[in-house]
Amino acid sequence: MQQPLFLKPVFKERIWGGTALTTQFGYEIPSNQTGECWAISAHPNGPSIIENGTFEGMSLEELWKKQPELFGNQTDEVFPLLTKILDANADLSVQVHPEDEYAKVHENGDLGKTECWYILDCKEGADMIFGHNAKTKEELIQQINEGKWNELLRRVKIKPGDFFYVPSGTIHALCEGTLVLETQQSSDTTYRVYDYDRRDAEGNLRELHLEKAIDVTTVPHQETGVTPKVEERDHAVVTTFVESEFFSVYKWNVDGKASFTADGHYLLVSVINGTGALLHAGETYHLKKGNHFILPVGFGEFELEGNTEFIVSHT
Ligand code: ZN
Repeated sequence: MQQPLFLKPVFKERIWGGTALTTQFGYEIPSNQTGECWAISAHPNGPSIIENGTFEGMSLEELWKKQPELFGNQTDEVFPLLTKILDANADLSVQVHPEDEYAKVHENGDLGKTECWYILDCKEGADMIFGHNAKTKEELIQQINEGKWNELLRRVKIKPGDFFYVPSGTIHALCEGTLVLETQQSSDTTYRVYDYDRRDAEGNLRELHLEKAIDVTTVPHQETGVTPKVEERDHAVVTTFVESEFFSVYKWNVDGKASFTADGHYLLVSVINGTGALLHAGETYHLKKGNHFILPVGFGEFELEGNTEFIVSHT
């Protein structure tokens, strides 16, 4: 009988980080500049550890290699997804990620990075950088070289509950006052385009990666507007945000007791609001905001109870 795999998050201090991961999620964070919670990760830069059941104490990376049947015996070398929560307490640098083929050649076999964001919370009037206005690569290079950032970079308004699909090749940045749940390919490759000319305490600028960034940026920018599909069920609302070649991402809102089935895919599940319980094979697993778990392939039928909101993804 399969068990859910609860995971212990890994935290990353960042110069743009803050305290929302403790004030909003109750996590113990290493400092008041904590930017990232790696919630479901098998990436070597921050692997999650299983917290319960038969596999307690193992890393997700190890489990992927040693118990492939939990994941449907996929043949990928590495666990393909990474779930994070990001607390942007200051503007992040403007960046772009490569696709798989480019990353393989230029980044020692790391995956490319297509990602997506669910806006958990943000300040009034918050925005973010999403795409650019250059019509040709020449224009992109020229505007970068001349530092015409206001003309080049596109800004979009955001609000809690919004969802953005960010394919590799999209110039983007989270801006100050944004708390986001990110589902992404398991990759740590970022090319920095612009850092607002900020200097650190020693007066140094952070390194930019303009040549690679220009190489991988999609020109002209391609709109990736997401139209969520909403399905009303008994005591649940299932919202489908995206179904792409890299991942599918959903929001489940449960109010009462709702039935689900997990068979064909393993599911990555994050509790983003409320409290409740997962009922499965006679066991009750209590859930609260900030829990993250995987339901292995063949988990079968289960119920979710409570007043709870989840972000769910699979490959
Ligand atoms: Zn990114």
